[in-house]
Amino acid sequence: MRKKIIAGNWKMNMTFDEGQKLTSEIVNMFKDENISDVQLVLNPPFPHLHPVKKLIGDTPNVFLGSQNCSNMESGAFTGEVSAKILASFGVTHVILGHSERREYFKEDNALLTEKVKQALVNGLTPIFCCGESLEIREAGTHESNVKFQLTDSLFGLSAEEMSKVVIAYEPIWAIGTGKTASSDEAQQMHETLRKHIASKYGQDLADSISILYGGSMNAGNAADLLSKPDVDGGLIGGASLKSRDFITIAKSY
Ligand code: PEP
Repeated sequence: MRKKIIAGNWKMNMTFDEGQKLTSEIVNMFKDENISDVQLVLNPPFPHLHPVKKLIGDTPNVFLGSQNCSNMESGAFTGEVSAKILASFGVTHVILGHSERREYFKEDNALLTEKVKQALVNGLTPIFCCGESLEIREAGTHESNVKFQLTDSLFGLSAEEMSKVVIAYEPIWAIGTGKTASSDEAQQMHETLRKHIASKYGQDLADSISILYGGSMNAGNAADLLSKPDVDGGLIGGASLKSRDFITIAKSY
């Protein structure tokens, strides 16, 4: 059985107090409403990580992720945060290759391979993002484009390493735009990506990998998207900043 994962990407939002309030609300609702069978991953900005960890405590099925990590192991890299540092205080996941990092910070597939390896060596689960631009979607080359992102960044991993990766398919045209891929479009791409992984690593491994959808998922459209057989959860931006919306998404399975 694949893990069902609802991950919240806070991006560069939330003051300290706002982050504390949001986390407390999410953790309390998750417990009170007895949501089982779904893993939550909260991915706040770096300074929130340790205090958010304290609020999560030992709540089952609530995990802590960062939005990035360095490709370097340690040393004189001012401003960087290593996977090793993150893992040392309880971070378990890391979002890598988000389209905003690819676009604004020029992260390419080769750099992302290094980051994925750093995450894995230090026991973090990479949530590896991929997705096509509107231009590519309109040109009809989206499947080959997204498959290439996986091939180029991930297919050098051993089967054991690959089995620890979570994929997030995030069409760029749907991120923060309010425009969601239809559930059929999401299913089509997720199925394509799973087949692609199977072509390299075999069907069993491909069937075990969680593939999340990201792109304007919200409390209203989550149930439809999450009903699709190859959609194993969501990576949520805007709607993860509202506790009730985030929890409603988690309850939509
Ligand atoms: C994201 O940033 O990963 C994302 C999916 O954002 P939003 O849900 O706001 O589109």
